[in-house]
Amino acid sequence: MKFMLTSKGDETSDALCKKMRQYLEDFDLKWDPEEPDLVISVGGDGTLLSNFHRYKARLAETAFIGVHTGHLGFYADWTPQEVEKLVIDIAKTPFDVVEYPLLEVMVSYINGDSAARYLALNECTVKCVEGSLVMDVTIKNDHFETFRGDGLCISTPSGSTAYNKALGGAIVHPSLEAIQLAEMASINNRVFRTVGSPLILPKHHTCLLEPVNDVDFTVTIDHLTLLHKDVQSIQCKVAKEKVRFARYRSFPFWSRVRESFIGDAE
Ligand code: NAP
Ligand code: MN
Repeated sequence: MKFMLTSKGDETSDALCKKMRQYLEDFDLKWDPEEPDLVISVGGDGTLLSNFHRYKARLAETAFIGVHTGHLGFYADWTPQEVEKLVIDIAKTPFDVVEYPLLEVMVSYINGDSAARYLALNECTVKCVEGSLVMDVTIKNDHFETFRGDGLCISTPSGSTAYNKALGGAIVHPSLEAIQLAEMASINNRVFRTVGSPLILPKHHTCLLEPVNDVDFTVTIDHLTLLHKDVQSIQCKVAKEKVRFARYRSFPFWSRVRESFIGDAE
């Protein structure tokens, strides 16, 4: 098996990376940053997000796993203390794979430029460069509402514990193939109306955002921020691709939620 390791870049993560690489090579596993079967992230969820984007062209051939050197992560859920056991498992046991849904974002332009396609592991957010965002929101080809406010966030189930949660969105189990649309400070008065609640859309339902006034937007895809000019529409749906995580032990999603947000009190 071919593997690749990346570090968040701090001293602790760098040292752990070096140690793991040595152990894995001692077991005759091959270091291959070009075509790895397993990509190990050492740091936090942000480190795994970066790796996801680095290897997004070969998601079907790549499995991800994460070790956290800070707080418990949702993607980076192995502790530095478990690394020796993890390395032996990687060397000796074929891994099971757990697949999580991804978000597909298509940005189309009024000037006829070809559409840009993105995959997000956590979410896409749309904000105006200046002032309020005004967007017509169409769900499954029916006009749903005209949104006015700070912005919109469309998240995956595994991204539902990130930005989406801060917006009052629901936590969605990653076995559900769905995306969630959450509002950022919508303006609601006698003139402007939005639904006010986060919406969860199933696979095959598209959420189309069309500008009402401005056509320049700040679009984020996970940790990346991109300025899009002359936007005609932004279409979001569950992607056909999935992300694969290598699973060597069970650590159920709801346990990760409890340990991350509630703690181990009692
Ligand atoms: P960051 O600023 O370090 O990320 C913010 C926090 O989100 C970090 O604690 C990060 O964990 C955590 N996080 C990332 N993915 C998560 C997930 N799926 N579930 C729960 N927590 C998660 O930047 P980053 O590490 O590059 O992560 C980018 C993400 O930050 C974006 O995708 C977005 O979800 C999130 N974000 C959140 C807010 C907010 O909550 N108001 C605002 C902007 C962005 P680690 O420390 O382990 O990296
Ligand atoms: Mn981070």
